Amino acid sequence: MDKGTPSFDAVIVGAGFSGMYMLKSLRDKLGLKVKVYEAGDTVGGTWYWNRYPGARCDSDSYIYCYTFDKQLLQEWEWSERYPEQDEILRYLEHVAKRHDLKRDIQFNTRVTGGEYDEASNLWQVHTDKGETVTARFLIPAVGTLSYANIPQYKGLEKFRGKWYHTSNFPKEGVDFTAKRVAVVGTGATAVQAIPEIAQQAKQLVVFQRTANYCVPARNGKVDPELVKARKADYDNIVKRIRESFFGQEHYFIPKSALEVSREERERELDKRWDTGGFAFWLANYQDMFFNKEANEVIADYLKRKIRATVKDPKVAEKLIPKGYYYGTKRQPLDTNYFETFNKDNVLLVDAKADGPIEEITEKGIRAGGKEYEVDVIVFATGFDAMTGPLKALNLKGRGGRTLDKEWAEGPHTYLGISVVGFPNLFAITGPQSPSVLSNMPVSIEQHVDWVTDCIDNMRKTGKTIIEATRQAQDQWVAHVNEVVNMTLMTSANSWYMSANIAGKPRAFLPYLGPEGVGGYRKKCDEVAAKGYEGFALS
Ligand code: FAD
Ligand code: NAP
Repeated sequence: MDKGTPSFDAVIVGAGFSGMYMLKSLRDKLGLKVKVYEAGDTVGGTWYWNRYPGARCDSDSYIYCYTFDKQLLQEWEWSERYPEQDEILRYLEHVAKRHDLKRDIQFNTRVTGGEYDEASNLWQVHTDKGETVTARFLIPAVGTLSYANIPQYKGLEKFRGKWYHTSNFPKEGVDFTAKRVAVVGTGATAVQAIPEIAQQAKQLVVFQRTANYCVPARNGKVDPELVKARKADYDNIVKRIRESFFGQEHYFIPKSALEVSREERERELDKRWDTGGFAFWLANYQDMFFNKEANEVIADYLKRKIRATVKDPKVAEKLIPKGYYYGTKRQPLDTNYFETFNKDNVLLVDAKADGPIEEITEKGIRAGGKEYEVDVIVFATGFDAMTGPLKALNLKGRGGRTLDKEWAEGPHTYLGISVVGFPNLFAITGPQSPSVLSNMPVSIEQHVDWVTDCIDNMRKTGKTIIEATRQAQDQWVAHVNEVVNMTLMTSANSWYMSANIAGKPRAFLPYLGPEGVGGYRKKCDEVAAKGYEGFALS
């Protein structure tokens, strides 16, 4: 191969929502030669891997989809407010077929490394199939929640039963009937899985390290008239979610929770509780994320709901969140979660107060000096979020620099898209962009469109290399931290703060901009309009 002629214009890693649209955009809009590598055996990403019982989206389905294909927005019919995993996977398969994506995706192939070759200014990309290809642009669309956190418990290898992580569930499912099951974790995943598993299992033991504030999802069929009205209004909906704070049609109450009467506040909170979904979290009083007292009155509402639902007061107390502010950890949406702890076959172990998990034994889990015998363990222990999948690519930028080293104190990016010393690398929904704090398809489409325009612009202006400048990156990192430090978000031991992974440097991973997704989009557009301000182009 000629040293200057790459195998591909662009290599994309991952074929979830991000990688699929990135391929579509670069190939069909710009006519580039593109190759996608995907570790799974089909498209879907999150919705391919997360097959645990109860897995469904928490974003409302009418906005948890692509908006680039206007015809599809009209044609596709979601069965429920929050469709299940298999339905979302079917949707993504449909998109892949409709846009003939699979011909450029190599499945069952993991990218294991890559180096930026400063002589040819190309990325060399290696796969676990022993291939090496070159590309002008390397686009990790590897997802933010795709690198499983499997705690390294002593004794796991000795366990005689079966164990699974929720993000790698067997395709054929797991039959829990007549089984004694343990679920470790009580995050958004566990909150969906626990009620489903409890219905099947003979006995379910839930190991909770941190209790969670949950709000009812209120799933169900959507009124056909509302579906019709939304379809008729999609152009405006898309505009609104793009300009919104969280990529959703939720807006803060422009008041302090403390300035209104208790009656008014209760009325507002009841409304959001009854609506279900993210409204309670993302359309609440505006000072909830800043002011401790405001936060506490809202938290108190949710604590009362737990006490009213859980019959055994001792169990209810264990399920009451403590030690962090409401909303600073991702709020799970639930369907009969707290009710499940009223069932005779469900036992809650407080893996903090009663003693942490000490080891996995041949027969089960030992925690707080007691052995719980089980046949199946489900680890709903989450992910090495955002930086995990990017670091796992083992990339080497200029001078052999690695993300491990560059990010030893947490992620350092420009706009969450680019990293100094890693030219022509574009991360989709990377750290320090709104990403996981938004309805993700909105942020994914924004990044893909921005990257596509950037590459198009480079071609038109005869540039072949783009790289963030140190100054722009430093300023962005400072801005990201400055903004989040004004909120309560940094006080929690959340995965947003990298606190779920032992040894991970404590840093806030996404970008919580003062104007959210809409403001961030404006900033990215301004950067482009100013000739890619903060980037060096050559
Ligand atoms: P992913 O869907 O994670 O896809 C990344 C792909 O990259 C994966 O298929 C992976 O196999 C592949 N990959 C990674 N590394 C490599 C490698 N080295 N080589 C080859 N392939 C690789 N977001 C919302 O906005 N609303 C929701 O309701 C919502 N629900 C969620 C539910 C669950 C259970 C989870 C885990 C996440 C949820 N999310 C939700 C976040 C969700 O991840 C995003 O909405 C979206 O699916 C991300 O798409 P993606 O393509 O960026 O990443
Ligand atoms: P998570 O929120 O990180 O929750 C993991 C749970 O496991 C937490 O309760 C955590 O406790 C516990 N845990 C982790 N390590 C542990 C250990 N060593 N010992 C004991 N307990 C341990 O992960 P998740 O529930 O998979 O969710 C991750 C994210 O995926 C969500 O926040 C959300 O963004 C997305 N998600 C979305 C949906 C949806 O939208 N439908 C559904 C599922 C997931 P601590 O809290 O103490 O760390």
